[in-house]
Amino acid sequence: MKFQSIYASILILAFNHFLIAFAAHPCIDYPDPLNPGRFEFTDCPNIVEDDIEDLPNVKREIQNFFHIDINCYSDATLCKKIKKAFDDAGKEISKVLKLKKKIYVNATFESFSLMERNVLGSTYPTRSIFLTSDDKITRLYPQALAKQFSLNVHPAYSKYDINSRFNADFGWWFKSDNKTIETDQYDFSIVVLHELIHGLGFISSWDNSLETNVYQYVTGLTSIYYFYDNKYGGFVENIFDRYLKLIENKKKIPLSDYTAQLDKSVPPMTPFNTILQFTNRVKSSPKWKYAKLVLKAATTNNSIIFTPAKRTSWNQDIYLETSLKPFNAGSSISHVSQLKYRKTSDFLMTYQQFPGQTLEYFIKRGGNYKSPIGPRIISILESIGYATDTHPNPVKPTLPSKKYPTM
Ligand SMILES: [Zn+2]
Repeated sequence: MKFQSIYASILILAFNHFLIAFAAHPCIDYPDPLNPGRFEFTDCPNIVEDDIEDLPNVKREIQNFFHIDINCYSDATLCKKIKKAFDDAGKEISKVLKLKKKIYVNATFESFSLMERNVLGSTYPTRSIFLTSDDKITRLYPQALAKQFSLNVHPAYSKYDINSRFNADFGWWFKSDNKTIETDQYDFSIVVLHELIHGLGFISSWDNSLETNVYQYVTGLTSIYYFYDNKYGGFVENIFDRYLKLIENKKKIPLSDYTAQLDKSVPPMTPFNTILQFTNRVKSSPKWKYAKLVLKAATTNNSIIFTPAKRTSWNQDIYLETSLKPFNAGSSISHVSQLKYRKTSDFLMTYQQFPGQTLEYFIKRGGNYKSPIGPRIISILESIGYATDTHPNPVKPTLPSKKYPTM
């Protein structure tokens, strides 16, 4: 997900889907975090773990569960500061989440293209895998999260769990400089924390990629759709989406219901010659009205909420970012509402960052919460399956009982 500068203009990415036939155990890979619509189906045969020992239960305050490899296209002094900021962010998250397996991050610090010039950074899970949640619905889990469940049989993992890119063209401020932040500088530590949390799975699958494929006017949103051998496979959502509800006439309706309706728009395994044929078929189905309703909610303030799972750090609805018009893939839905939470302890996961202020300032303004990661954000991470001290036993998903797609 992209994290924008406050001065950013709305950027709509033209997503291109590359559809690759998969054999039996598909995973979805996202090679470019700035362009998650370019996902690829990969064959991920099941791996049987001989040794599913978790990392020893060391004192987490001093443990960094993140291993970061940085491709840094800048001078050595700056690159050193960046490495330090990554390590500090990794330690901060490791204090809050009870991680069991190391998380490998592939980070790049480089100049962005002109089209991406307003984007501070962007991150996406490297791979998402199909697992079945306890409500029996199969969803996509980011690899970083899937690993924490220590499943003794699981689809093959990619080398890295998270892909991250950071824009070298901004004026960055580092705490280690021991200097006052300038009005046009951005605190690098905020962006790193924000991006890593997206990589952990703070990410919705709902977007307009079905229509950007064919350069059409956006009329609806869908969760991810997939093909098997040029046949329609289904619509599927991320684990994050399980907890989303759309507010319609004061009623709260789970977005999973909309995914289920869209899934019926085309009979399973219908063959198509082209992606355009498929798109036209879905859009001419009576079920397309559900895609339209989600687009309407995603562009109307306070219309999509995250309802946390029981007994997590926050027990009230959390409003997501739905004030942007037009819909902005990468910014809409996958962040908390900027209008509501910018000045709270959950400032970290709003879609824009403001220059001239440090992480310490925002923590103080938010009420001096014990961590830069606020209680609503922790609750979202707990809901999708991360363990914490106060929520030590999240529900484990299982390997889908049938090969997926379920044919
Ligand atoms: Zn973001």
